[in-house]
Amino acid sequence: MSATIDTVRVSFILNELRLPAIKVVWPKFAERSDKEGWQAARFLAAIAEHELAERDRRRVERHLGEAKLLPGKTLDNFDFDAVPMISKAQVSALCAGDGWLETGANLILFGPPGGGKSHLASAIGLALIEKGWRVLFARTSDLVQKLQVARRELALEAAIASLERFDLLILDDIAYVTKDQAETSVLFELISARYERRSMLITANQPFGEWGKIFPDPAMTLAAVDRLVHHATILEMNVDSYRRRAALERKQHGAGRPAIYATPKNVGVPPPRDNQPEI
Ligand code: ADP
Ligand code: MG
Repeated sequence: MSATIDTVRVSFILNELRLPAIKVVWPKFAERSDKEGWQAARFLAAIAEHELAERDRRRVERHLGEAKLLPGKTLDNFDFDAVPMISKAQVSALCAGDGWLETGANLILFGPPGGGKSHLASAIGLALIEKGWRVLFARTSDLVQKLQVARRELALEAAIASLERFDLLILDDIAYVTKDQAETSVLFELISARYERRSMLITANQPFGEWGKIFPDPAMTLAAVDRLVHHATILEMNVDSYRRRAALERKQHGAGRPAIYATPKNVGVPPPRDNQPEI
């Protein structure tokens, strides 16, 4: 490094230019560059690439921080064998985001409680963030509550607009919205505002026929369902509760198995699943 360079001033300039990664790494890169006789262009390219990579990393970190995903729920620890009706390839394709998030299309996950809807929704959110998309995971009733407060403060439009920054809004458990929450129809306004522009991922343990409880009147229910499904991929996860199955398996294979099931299968004892209590 030439003694004529004022390194303090270089640091100051890099600060001003908002190039914090270069500010940290340039002395090391410069030393190596001098030692190995790099061309100036190679040195510049190396530090510029470094800044770009750091910027991407910081962005993903920021987006993860704001997304409020469920901790520990990833695609890697999602057992696709447990939901044979869901194609891993289709989920992987959705996780790229291109094609559906650009056009504001939706994804709807149906299935009984414990079937893995929230896990899969959060894991898809995580994969999308890693690809550079912005995602917010919300329990629908919490979000509705917030929007109702905003409405009372005459700031509903602004609250809905502030959700625009998210390429994907995950509304978990839409069917848990209670009737009194529905009366002010903020959910309908949210759905209408995002229609064909910004995507939503919705999980529900009740089919559309039961959605009358979510919205104030049948016409609004119909209009909401219509907007949601117009451009939507619907995945049905009609499986038993994962926890229940896991507990059953432990019971069947583990030490705590009740004596009755020690009887060999071929003597007419019904399969354990049929007379196990609900967990
Ligand atoms: P739902 O939202 O459909 O009620 P959850 O996603 O909350 O179900 O799943 C219940 C629990 O079981 C969670 O701890 C989840 O991680 C786990 N689980 C459900 N399905 C799977 C699966 N296919 N692979 C791994 N874990 C699963
Ligand atoms: Mg859930």
